[in-house]
Parts: sequence; structure tokens; C-alpha cells
Amino acid sequence: MQSSKSVAVLTGSGVSAESVVPTFREAQTGLWARYNPEELATPEAFVRDPRLVWEWYSWRRELVEQAIPNSGHEALAELERRIPSFALITQNVDGLHRRAGSQSVIELHGNIRRSKCSREDVVVEPREGDTDVPPSCPSCGASLRPDVVWFGEALPRDAFAEAFDAARNCDLFLSVGTSGLVQPAASLPFEALHSGVTIIEINPDETPLAQHADYALRGRAGEVLPVLLRAAYGG
Ligand code: NAD
Repeated sequence: MQSSKSVAVLTGSGVSAESVVPTFREAQTGLWARYNPEELATPEAFVRDPRLVWEWYSWRRELVEQAIPNSGHEALAELERRIPSFALITQNVDGLHRRAGSQSVIELHGNIRRSKCSREDVVVEPREGDTDVPPSCPSCGASLRPDVVWFGEALPRDAFAEAFDAARNCDLFLSVGTSGLVQPAASLPFEALHSGVTIIEINPDETPLAQHADYALRGRAGEVLPVLLRAAYGG
């Protein structure tokens, strides 16, 4: 890390777990315990029951708005300030990396705070005073939906191309708080691996990447990342 000139980081929902944003597995609590998140985050679910899906996202949006970036997000923002070429690729839709001060953020799966028209695929804000659930598009009247990538949908092409380039051309790749089960994001550390990049993984649990990583650090992002930064740069 001390000698790296170019670093790419892939984060998943685990990096926000300490900010009390539930990972998908943890999201099966309370009111939503009887729903499988992977079945709510799909285009089919939205067609079947747009109100249910919109309300689930409203609940998650509220959690995200109350959440505060944690020491893991902050350590990654600090790392960016020390590395000449840096890309933070995130699967998270919560915007916490930017709120922690990260600048070069590639959002692979969109952002939960934005909405888009389900017909025209353009980002729009709901009209003020619109009481429909979900609200309707101010220009065409179709339902609005969250501007996130659902299971079965393609990733924003430019964002993925940028992430792919960053993974192949960096000299150090960190995979933090991701189960490595959601494609195509999960392929990025393997792209880095095939390009001879050094891989560090940070996760309290075993993942498919662990056995391939140069270093698999078992622990929480909010604990491990600050220790790693202190070890590399002091302070
Ligand atoms: P995932 O739920 O599949 O996996 C989370 C991973 O984080 C697990 O491997 C778990 O062991 C690990 N983890 C838990 N606590 C941790 C901690 N404190 N520090 C480090 N790691 C920790 O999540 P995923 O891999 O991101 O993929 C699932 C999908 O979930 C993605 O498409 C993502 O967009 C979406 N999602 C995003 C958010 C968010 O924006 N915060 C929340 C839930 C789901």
C-alpha cells in the first residue's frame, strides 16, 4: 500500500453495515421479514406490485438518510488523498462514500436517493405534492422507480467500463464488505487477479475470493481499514 501508485477498491453492503444500513441478509427484519430482498429488487416484482417495491425502497431510503458514514468509509476517503490514481467502485446505493469525502466514486448499482421514470429511463424527481405510490413521472405519467440496478438488469455501461479499466490497471485492489456473489461486480477482483494485481480482501466471513487473495483480512471494514492505514502511513 505504501508503494502503490494506483489503487482500485470494490465495496459492497458490508462496508455500510457499521453505519446500520442493513446488508441484504440483514434487511430481512421487522416489517420486511417475510419478504426476500432479492425478490423485491427485480423488475418483475415492480411490475407485479409497484406499491410494495416503492414502499420497501422508501423504508431503505429513510435508513440511509439517517445513517452516518463510519470509520471504514472515512479510511477509504483518506486513502484516496494519499494515492495518485484511485478508483472507488461501489455496489452500494446509499451514497455514504461521497458523504465521507470520497471523490472518485463509481456507482455500479445506482443511487437510492434518485428516482427515474420506469418508461423513459431518465432521472426525474417526483412532483411536489404527488401522493401516488409510487409517484408518477411529471412528463409521461408512468410510475417512477428508484434509480438503482435491479437483479437481472444491466449495469450502467460507462460505469462498468470504467470499473473494469481500474481493476485491470491498478497495482493494488481491495475488496471490502462484499459477498462476491452478485455479478458482474464480483468479476472485478478476478480481472485484477488475472492482470497480476495484488489483492487484499476485508470481510468477517469467508467468500469465494478469499482463497485467491494475497491477503484475506478477517474483520469488519470499520476496524480493519483504519488499522491498515495507520500501519501504512502512521498517525
Ligand atoms: P451482500 O449482502 O451480498 O454481502 C455483504 C457482505 O458484507 C458479506 O460477505 C458479509 O460477510 C460482509 N460484511 C458484513 N458486515 C461487514 C463489515 N462490518 N465489514 C466488512 N464486511 C462485512 O452484499 P453485496 O456483496 O454488496 O451485494 C448484494 C447487493 O446488495 C448489491 O447489489 C448492492 O447493491 C445491494 N445492497 C446495497 C446496500 C447499500 O447500499 N448499503 C445495502 C444492501 C444491499
